[in-house]
Amino acid sequence: MGWSGADPVRSLSIFGATGSIGEQTVDLLLRAGGAERHRVVALTGGRNIARLAEMARDLRAEVAVCADAAGLAELRERLAGSGVAAAAGPAAIVEAADRPADWVMSSIVGAAGLAPGFRALRHGATLALANKESLVTAGPLLMAEAARHGARILPVDSEHSAIFQALVGEDIGAVERIILTASGGALRDWPLEQLAKATVKEALAHPNWAMGQRITIDSASMFNKALEVIETREFFGVDPDQVEVIIHPESLIHSMVGYRDGAIMAHMGAPDMRHSIGYALNWPDRAHLPVARLDLAQIGQMTFRAPDLQRYPALRLAREVMARRGLAGAAFNAAKEVALDHFLSGGIGFMDMAEVVEETLSALEADFGNASITMTLEDVQAMDHLARIRADEIARAMAGEA
Ligand code: NAD
Ligand code: MG
Repeated sequence: MGWSGADPVRSLSIFGATGSIGEQTVDLLLRAGGAERHRVVALTGGRNIARLAEMARDLRAEVAVCADAAGLAELRERLAGSGVAAAAGPAAIVEAADRPADWVMSSIVGAAGLAPGFRALRHGATLALANKESLVTAGPLLMAEAARHGARILPVDSEHSAIFQALVGEDIGAVERIILTASGGALRDWPLEQLAKATVKEALAHPNWAMGQRITIDSASMFNKALEVIETREFFGVDPDQVEVIIHPESLIHSMVGYRDGAIMAHMGAPDMRHSIGYALNWPDRAHLPVARLDLAQIGQMTFRAPDLQRYPALRLAREVMARRGLAGAAFNAAKEVALDHFLSGGIGFMDMAEVVEETLSALEADFGNASITMTLEDVQAMDHLARIRADEIARAMAGEA
């Protein structure tokens, strides 16, 4: 059952509280009465220990956990006298998901977000899922675990929240297609032949959304959209060929659902993640949210264009991953994360990222299993590990050649 805004107290945890999504979740909680109205169980962060301790105090969390074991002493010191317990390390993050909470935000970035979210489902929590990597790497596993424990997953990615909202009251069987909108990222208007030379700074200049660094680069390369196509397939259970991508530079329509009678339901709003975070937080209610209201007359027009697959090879690779299923998604995501690290550190070029991913997929193809594989969390983590090693070798070789 959903939470009614009238309930005085609901327990919740935020995994990745110090990130872009985490901070916006905390912002909404503080506006909605903070610790007076919510019982905050666990907050986790990465290296920003000062901020983690500060929000744990503000929200009177039971426990704060940082990812790096070496940060424990500092975290303890900063929490001294607050009554908030401190813990550290990847295992402690997963253990924090064993503390029952009604609502759990999964907003760690990357494959590290899978294990804690997966664990939270065991306790029947409503999982607000920003960590799309969980569905890309282990979609069938995650959905089965939710069903087994009567847990609900609510999408937080803006496109998937839009689709979810466009499906309210409808029969999924009447859906003909799902149309994901994409801004096209920072480099969408660059000439194709110049993309190879794009720098990190240029790829970070996102036109519409303010997000974490990694997802912003992934928007420019459309690896983010590639992950989202797979996320759509896994979350809504539609066929891969029912999922389309369209470039919509204004980012006002967050995605659309096309029905068999030709009707298209579109979800619109200002490009502000607090929309979809707030929807998941208050579902099935709609609460007042502090987001800008669209002035359509002032906006005047919206535009659309088809994505060019030469410019965005990641979209083509997503199709291959969906055709393979099994552990292909885990390899795809891991290779993408490693390729991104090498781009960020200057080792490889912007267009090389897709090449690293493609070569990694070819190298590991024999180990993906088939579509009907019953994967375990350990299988997914083993493939993730293997793909990271392979992608790293490929990227290093590429950097050496350059
Ligand atoms: P971010 O980099 O701003 O924050 C990530 C959070 O995860 C931080 O709290 C960080 O400390 C923590 N973290 C990083 N590595 C970790 C590790 N190895 N172990 C434990 N914790 C770790 O990222 P973000 O932009 O907030 O994105 C979070 C997730 O939400 C991603 O999966 C992203 O794809 C998704 N998402 C983000 C946006 C957005 O607008 N930012 C939109 C849609 C989906
Ligand atoms: Mg998105």
